[in-house]
Formats: sequence, structure tokens, C-alpha cells
Amino acid sequence: MSASEFEIIQRYFVDSGLGFPRSELELGIGDDGALLRIPEDKVLTMSMDVLLETVHFSSAADASLIANRALAVNLSDMAAMAAQPLCFTMGLVLADSSQQWLKSFSAGLLPLAREFNCPLVGGDTSRGSGLLNISIQVHGLCDPDRASLRSGAKANDRIYVSGKLGDGAIALLSLGLKSHLGEAFALRNRDLPETCRQYFDDAYYRPQPRVRLAQAIKHLINSNIDISDGLLGDLGHICRASKVGANVFLPQLPFSDSAKCCVEADNLVKAALFGGDDYELCFTVAEQHCAEVESIAAGIGEEISCIGEIVEGEKLSCLDHDGREQKFDGHAYMHY
Ligand code: ADP
Ligand code: MG
Repeated sequence: MSASEFEIIQRYFVDSGLGFPRSELELGIGDDGALLRIPEDKVLTMSMDVLLETVHFSSAADASLIANRALAVNLSDMAAMAAQPLCFTMGLVLADSSQQWLKSFSAGLLPLAREFNCPLVGGDTSRGSGLLNISIQVHGLCDPDRASLRSGAKANDRIYVSGKLGDGAIALLSLGLKSHLGEAFALRNRDLPETCRQYFDDAYYRPQPRVRLAQAIKHLINSNIDISDGLLGDLGHICRASKVGANVFLPQLPFSDSAKCCVEADNLVKAALFGGDDYELCFTVAEQHCAEVESIAAGIGEEISCIGEIVEGEKLSCLDHDGREQKFDGHAYMHY
């Protein structure tokens, strides 16, 4: 390992405070591997997200925002599993090693790592010749039999989402990144009000991992997923895994004021159904538990909306005000 690599790791990943202790962690950064003790009454879950420059963030973006997003989208997978975050590892491929960039990047990881008690315990750092690549693997602890899977939805369950939908897709437009939703998916007006621009920057780079919500309701939900590729794509995963269909009630989709301000109504719906990058939870609840789930969410200040119902069969339908089916020609984001 070259001295500069060693210095990078020491300065930005150890001295920065990212490798803070927690009781399960016997050995963190510094050896060939980390050592963790898994409590006897828990199961370990792990999940990885790769973020690539120009695909998942703009080359011009602030390093601390990129860092925040990279960790947030990983923590969102822990929320989707109803897991308590434990720690993370990180692979970094950097074309150069600007001290300023690394300082800001490492500072950008710290708030969420601290908030979710999720220290950095290892990784790998390499010089690359091309685009910046950030791979984070996050580890979490689940209660046995309480992990919230895609496969547990049952006919007559109510479908809920957390937060607002569509902001991630609209944020791509606001940030000047490419959306897969085509030419017609556009801002009402290219010059956004400054409050809206700020709102979408935050929505994109600071998604809120819904870990607390998932922890609070994990005993009451039948299935759960985080929405990274648009509601229909991700709800479709629940339907296929659970061998059920779903009705989505379009008038009940929750939109932010900024979203309503900046795109036309048909594009709002497209953003929610096909856009992606929202990192909200979509979960299903048996009817008898809905009131309790709603009251728990309200009690911890987490917004949730009932947006549909699980049905028998395998059809996923979107229904308008009058219960008539609406067809859309959009599709979820696909990498290939
Ligand atoms: P090895 O030769 O075993 O791959 P390295 O020299 O790459 O070890 O890394 C030394 C230590 O620094 C290891 O504990 C490794 O986990 C940690 N490390 C390297 N890169 C990162 C990174 N990007 N984030 C966190 N820890 C890192
Ligand atoms: Mg290494």
C-alpha cells in the first residue's frame, strides 16, 4: 500500500471519526478484516449499492452530498428489511485524491453514520482511470422472523407509502441529470423558484432512510420494499414475490408542494409511478392493523399514506377517481 493510500485511509476514514466504536464491534478499520459479534437473538442482513459518477450523481456535485446520498440509499435498504443498521464497508475508486474532496466526502458520511449508529469498519481504496465509483455495503441486525420481505403481501392488505413520491425523478430535472422518462417529462418552467430548487436538491442528495418507521411497525406489516425504481416497478416486485395483484388509487398518491408547483399533473403521476430515486418505503398491512400502524407513524412524526390495496391474481392496476383503470406507457428505470 502506498503512503498516500495509507494517509487517505487514516486521515479521512479513521481520524475523521467514521470508525467510532459500538458494542458489537471488536475490531474495525486497520486489519485485513473487521470483527463483529452478532447478538444471539439477531440475524445479520447485508446489502450493497454502487454509485457511479454521471449515473447516480453529477460530476459537479458537492462531495459531502454525494457521500450523504451514498450512505442514505444503503440505509434505506436496511429500512426495507426492518433492520437496525450495524456498520458499513466502502469501496472507493478515485481518479485522483484531492484532499479537499476527500475531506468533504468523509464529513458528508458522518451525520448519517452517527444518526444511525452505523460506523465504517473497513473497505478498499484504489486509484482508477475513469469515473468515480463508490460502493457501500451496509450490514444490519434483524429480529428472526421479523425481517420485512417482499414476499409477505396478502390479498386485502392495504398498501402504504412513506413520505412523498416523485420528488427523486423531478430532482433529476432540477439538477440537470438525465431522466429515463423521455422528452415529455419536463419542468413546467425551466427557472424553478429557489425554494423548490433547494427542496429537490435535498430530496435527491438527502433522502431520509425510514429506519425508525420500519422499526416501529415491523411487527404489523406483511411486506415491505424501498422505492428506488418508481412505485409501480417496486410494488410489482412485491406482487411477483407474493403472487398477488394490486390496485393503486392514483388520487391518493402523496406529492410535495414543490412537485405540484414544478410539473404538470400527468408528469407528477409519471414521476411517482416510474421515476425512482424516492427511497421511501412501500409496505402492506392487513386491514385490522391499519389503524395501529397509522397511529404509530403519527406518534413518531412519520408521514404515511394509504395508496391502494392488494388483490388476488397478478394484475397491477392504477385506478382514477371513479375507479376506472388508467394505462400508462412509462416503465421503471432499467440499467440495461
Ligand atoms: P488490504 O491490503 O488488506 O486490502 P488495505 O491496505 O487496502 O488492506 O486497507 C487497510 C485498512 O484500511 C483495512 O482495514 C481496510 O478495511 C481499510 N480501508 C481501506 N480502504 C477503506 C475505505 N475506503 N473505507 C474504509 N476503510 C478502508
Ligand atoms: Mg485493500
